[in-house]
Formats: sequence, structure tokens, C-alpha cells
Amino acid sequence: MNSKLQKYENISKQILNCKKCSLCETAIQAVVGEGNLDSKVIFIGEAPGKNEDEVGRPFVGRAGKLLDSCLNSIELNRGDVWIGNLIKHRPPKNRDPLPAEIKACQDYLKSQIEIIDPKVIVTLGRFSFNYFFPDDKIGSERGKLKRFGNYNIFPVYHPAAALRNKKFLSTLQDDFLKLSEILNELK
Ligand code: URA
Repeated sequence: MNSKLQKYENISKQILNCKKCSLCETAIQAVVGEGNLDSKVIFIGEAPGKNEDEVGRPFVGRAGKLLDSCLNSIELNRGDVWIGNLIKHRPPKNRDPLPAEIKACQDYLKSQIEIIDPKVIVTLGRFSFNYFFPDDKIGSERGKLKRFGNYNIFPVYHPAAALRNKKFLSTLQDDFLKLSEILNELK
């Protein structure tokens, strides 16, 4: 096994056994994330929902289907990229993650990002965006390429928000077209 995969498996094991906060008591299982560890673009959501908790994979419900179609619209498949979440266990009834839960979980995402070392990190929704930029508002910053340390961050609306609001849907679709241009420029 190469050392990247070894490091990734090591973090994955820690996530699967994590008891740092009480979400592990109510969730069925942790959702580590999945995809291509050599991808130059990764997608970070908020937390697993009901479907993700049941199957142990990220973005497998309705929001995931929309994410798939946005990826397909720019000629990517989920297997081409890596998809994960800020929080690894489902919050009860899909409530917002608490600051203490985000704090307890955030080092896992940090390690996953360091191991994959992507060129662009797409944050899906406000929680993963605020992990990098706690004082900024996603409404004014989405669709803009931002710099965080060595990383390029591209914030977009969460697919679940786009399912609730048609205006967000067309913005999300437009932002994926922008993302495609950015990825072509970074080639
Ligand atoms: N919403 C998220 O933020 N993540 C998932 O994995 C599914 C829905």
C-alpha cells in the first residue's frame, strides 16, 4: 500500500471509531467520505443525513443526486473526485451541528485535506465554508475563488438548499460552470 493510502486508511479508522462527541451515540455509523484520493478537486458538505447514516456513504440522498447531476454537467463523475463532510456523524434529526461538535471533528477534515492535497476545495453550504472563513457570508462569497493558506476554496450553495429554492438551484448550476473553467485553467 502506498503511504498516501496508508495515511488515509489510518484516519478513516480513527473516524470510524470516533467517540469525541456524543453524535456517535445517536448515529448508526460514521461517514468517512469517498472518492479519488488523487483528485485535484474535492467537495465538502455539512454532515451525513438519514440516508448517508444508513449506508455509510456521503451524499447518497436527494441532495447527492443533485450533486451528481452538477458534476455530470461539467463532465465529472463522483468517482473522479473526493466527497466528504465537515462532520462525520449524523446530528439527530439533521439539526445543525453545534460549535463543540464542529470543533471535536474538524481535525479529521484537516488531515483528509492534507493527505489528498487538492488544488481546489469546493465547500457545499455555509458550514463547510465557515470552517475556512468563519466571518464571511456564503451569500456574498459563493462563486468566488478564495485563498486559504495553500488552498483554493470555491464556495457554492448546498445542494439541499438548491432543492428548496429554485433561485439557489440556478446559482448552483452556474457556479459549477465557473468551477469547470477554474479547473481547466489550473490544468
Ligand atoms: N448533506 C450533507 O451535507 N452531506 C451529506 O453527506 C448529505 C447531505
